[in-house]
Amino acid sequence: MSRTVAFIGLGHMGGPMAANLVRAGHRVRGHDLVAAALDDAVGAGVEPVASAADAVADAEVVISMLPAGRHVLGLYDELLAAARPGTLFVDCSTIDVADARTAHERAVAAGMRALDAPVSGGVMGAEGATLTFMAGGGEAEFDEALPLLETMGKKAVHCGGAGAGQAAKICNNMILGVSMIAVSEAFVLGESLGLSHQALYDVASTASGQCWALSVNCPVPGPVPTSPANREYRPGFAASLMAKDLGLAANAARAGGVHAELGLRAAELYAAYAERAGAAEDFSGIVRTIRNDDGGRT
Ligand code: NAD
Repeated sequence: MSRTVAFIGLGHMGGPMAANLVRAGHRVRGHDLVAAALDDAVGAGVEPVASAADAVADAEVVISMLPAGRHVLGLYDELLAAARPGTLFVDCSTIDVADARTAHERAVAAGMRALDAPVSGGVMGAEGATLTFMAGGGEAEFDEALPLLETMGKKAVHCGGAGAGQAAKICNNMILGVSMIAVSEAFVLGESLGLSHQALYDVASTASGQCWALSVNCPVPGPVPTSPANREYRPGFAASLMAKDLGLAANAARAGGVHAELGLRAAELYAAYAERAGAAEDFSGIVRTIRNDDGGRT
C-alpha cells in the first residue's frame, strides 16, 4: 500500500532512507534545513517542501531522522500542530530515552500516535536498506509502521513501550563500545608480548573472545580485510557517533543508579578520542590511542 510520508532530516541517514521509500512507490515529502541535503533527496524523487509544518500537513506518517533530542523536541510542537489528528510520528533519530518518552507524551496529548525507532547499520545500511530498527510504542503503531521500516531495513524488533527502542539502541552500543576497547587492549597487549595480529585473531575469533568488534570490525589491519583499519580508519561508524551513544547510555545509567563501571569509562575514553578524531575516523581507531600511536594527535 502506497503511503504519503513526511520525512524530516535528509542527512547521511535520512537521505538514503527517504530514497528507498520513494523507490518502493511511496509519496515522500521531504524537508531539511540544509539546501544540499534537500537537493540530493530531490534527485532521488523526494518532493521538496519549504517548511517542516508544510511537509507534515497532509502526511499519514511523519518520519524524523535528526541529530539529537533537542532537534526532535524543538520541532515536535510545530509538527504536531500542523499534522492531521491520528498521524503516526516515527522518530528514527538516536536520542535520550527521556526525550523519546517526552516526544511520545507530546504526540499523544496532541491526538497523534508515536513510535521511537532508532536504527543500527550506518550509512551503508541506510543506502542498501539493510538497517535494523529497534522500536518503542504500541503494538498497533508498530504494526502500521512495519511495512515502511521493512522497506528501509532488513529487520525491525518491537522492544516495548515508549522509549524502549532508544533503550535497546544505547544498551547495544554500550556493549559495542566496551567490547571494541577490550578487543583493542587485547591486540595491544598481544603486540607487547610478541603475538602476531593474525595469531590472536585466529584464536579469539573462534574461541570465547569472539564478538562483532573482533570478527567484523577488527581494529587492526590484516585479519579482516573489509574492516576500517585497512583504510586508515575511515568510517564506518564514526568515533563521534559512538561517543554520542555512549554519552546517552552513561546519562541513563547515572539517572537509574546503575553500576555500569565499564560503560561509564568507555564513554569517557570515547569522548576524549572523539574530540580529536571527530567524524573523520571509525570508532575502531581508538586502538591507536590505546597504543599511544594515533597519528601524532596526542
Ligand atoms: P546528519 O547530520 O547527516 O543528518 C541530520 C540532518 O538533520 C541534517 O541534514 C540537518 O540539516 C537536519 N536537520 C537538523 N535540524 C533540522 C530541522 N530543525 N529541520 C529539518 N532538518 C533538520 O546525521 P545522520 O548521520 O544522518 O544521523 C541522523 C541520526 O541517526 C542521528 O541521531 C544519529 O545518531 C543516528 N544514527 C546515525 C548513524 C550513522 O552512521 N550516521 C547510524 C545510526 C544512527
